[in-house]
Amino acid sequence: MAFSDFYGNAEAVHRLREMLARDRLPHAIILAGARGAGKYKLAQMTAKALNCLKRPLRDGLPDFCGACSNCLRIGQADDLAARFAEAVSAREELREADKRDTRLLIQTHPDVLIIPPDPPQVMIKVGQVRRVIETIYFRPAEGREAVYIFTDSAFMKEAANSLLKILEEPPSFATMFLLTENPGELLPTIRSRAITLTLAALPTAEIESCLARLRPEWNTKQRALVARLSGGAVGAAIAFDLAAYTAAREDALALLDTAVHPQDHSKLFKITETYRAGEGKDKTEELIRTLYWLLEDLLFLKSGTPELVRNTDIAADLGRMAQALDFAWIAAASDRLGEVEAGMRRNLLRALSLDAFVTALEQG
Ligand SMILES: [Zn+2]
Repeated sequence: MAFSDFYGNAEAVHRLREMLARDRLPHAIILAGARGAGKYKLAQMTAKALNCLKRPLRDGLPDFCGACSNCLRIGQADDLAARFAEAVSAREELREADKRDTRLLIQTHPDVLIIPPDPPQVMIKVGQVRRVIETIYFRPAEGREAVYIFTDSAFMKEAANSLLKILEEPPSFATMFLLTENPGELLPTIRSRAITLTLAALPTAEIESCLARLRPEWNTKQRALVARLSGGAVGAAIAFDLAAYTAAREDALALLDTAVHPQDHSKLFKITETYRAGEGKDKTEELIRTLYWLLEDLLFLKSGTPELVRNTDIAADLGRMAQALDFAWIAAASDRLGEVEAGMRRNLLRALSLDAFVTALEQG
């Protein structure tokens, strides 16, 4: 592993490495970018480069070896989702009284602390930032520079104010990474005390060629589809669950077909029956997102911009469907889908709400 394993955004990576070379890493770095753009990966790579015992130079700039004891221990947190799940279940096993006082933190190296949003609110809490304050003013124990990675910018108010206090008097031997999909979510006073590096969306062609290497089991059509659905975020593309998407899309197309072509409802009920309460929540969310994408594609086809279509592999079918529809119908369908989504948040019966969505749109 090395910085060269980071896909795309070469300029942002280069800037970080130049700062490393000059030993002038800012106290706080906001890494902005879409979900799956590689923010966490880049923060982890920088934490390794800061503390690597070998710190090789590549292309004249600092890199990391990935094999020394510091790199290896920091690397144990590379799989953030797995470490997060472990931390959550470890807390679940505590006694009720201890549970309340235990804040969620991930630490696989004494000088690198990862602060994820704490469930159930899924926000960064003041107790977590307090742990940062308790340690950040001590020199690193084993590494050269302590690294703190906040994996999300959803801070509770008091937590944001505590973070601001650190930023007003930061120690010289620590670097904080603030990862965010939307920098506007951070206090302006926090933003002004940090530098922001943005990981931009990658061009579709670049993602496709990346997938050709990393997901060779997908064919060209599938890679083209996933590249368009991932919105330029390479991590999202690599981790894309194509089987789940294809299943959701089959259901979504059947729902739309029922609405567009008058027919009896047995097929519809058979599908919506599988979106019952309980385990159906994630499945329903996937279905709704897929429906939005299909409606958007229909809109692109109707407005003569087929190059924007995401579901390129079924463009011909969508083209035929688009011919049978008008703009008003597509707009009404999007509105109604918004109602289904809102209903889900209020825990309305999902199967019924999907039936109502389709029957309200039926033409005839
Ligand atoms: Zn190393």
